[in-house]
Amino acid sequence: DVDVPESHPRYESLLTRHRIEAGVEKGITSKQGLIAQGRGEAYDYLLGERTIPTADAAARAAAAHLLRADHAVLSINGNVAALVPGEMVELAEATGADLEVNLFNRTEARMEAIADHLREHGAEDVKGLTADGRISGLDHERAKVDADGIGDADVVLVPLEDGDRAEALAEMGKTELVVDLNPLSRSAQTATVPIVDNIIRAIPNVTEHARDLEGDPEAQQQAIDEFDAEAALDAAERAIRGGDIE
Ligand code: ATP
Ligand code: MG
Repeated sequence: DVDVPESHPRYESLLTRHRIEAGVEKGITSKQGLIAQGRGEAYDYLLGERTIPTADAAARAAAAHLLRADHAVLSINGNVAALVPGEMVELAEATGADLEVNLFNRTEARMEAIADHLREHGAEDVKGLTADGRISGLDHERAKVDADGIGDADVVLVPLEDGDRAEALAEMGKTELVVDLNPLSRSAQTATVPIVDNIIRAIPNVTEHARDLEGDPEAQQQAIDEFDAEAALDAAERAIRGGDIE
């Protein structure tokens, strides 16, 4: 595996890079995914590699939306699968959501490799391989989803998603939960709930909030009502620019 001493000041970041690299070697992550990771890291560095308070509030609101959904789906791409496979399986279990492989650069080999990888991490049912549904407003390859998965969902968590697809999903009227370290990215801008945090920290945090909110509809409603997406994006941008966050 990797040989990074835990005392190294960039321990977490180096570990993350190794996971992405291993993902490419395993046929899970695309080469484009390496570039996306680099962009994310730059923002994380500027944020101080921490979960800012508004990102924590977003994680709590996202957990509430997942618990209240009629049908929630967690979308998995090559970076998500490489970085947090077990954590996504746990979140699905904690909220009753489905897992669906959903790729911008879709190939059957990569779809299968990611589904296998998720099963190795405990997933039972993995959607995305049927591809009998479409996201309206996108060209054919980019639009493919499962009719009984994302196609049917009222709430979707789309971490590290491309801006076009995030916009198209929002236009279909779905409640969209996004994880994206760039508060200026269109994905973050179109989300009902933008979580501006590293996915490595964000997903376990959403799961923890879900466990806390489970069975408490009032607390769920409060988490949703108290969250202000625009204010959260502003706070993240201020934190990145080096200003005060509260
Ligand atoms: P648009 O501006 O249209 O949204 P984009 O060029 O940002 O598109 P990508 O580069 O595919 O599209 O998006 C990847 C996004 O994911 C980037 O905004 C990047 O900051 C973010 N990202 C990458 N790695 C992580 C990570 N580990 N955790 C959270 N966000 C990440
Ligand atoms: Mg983006």
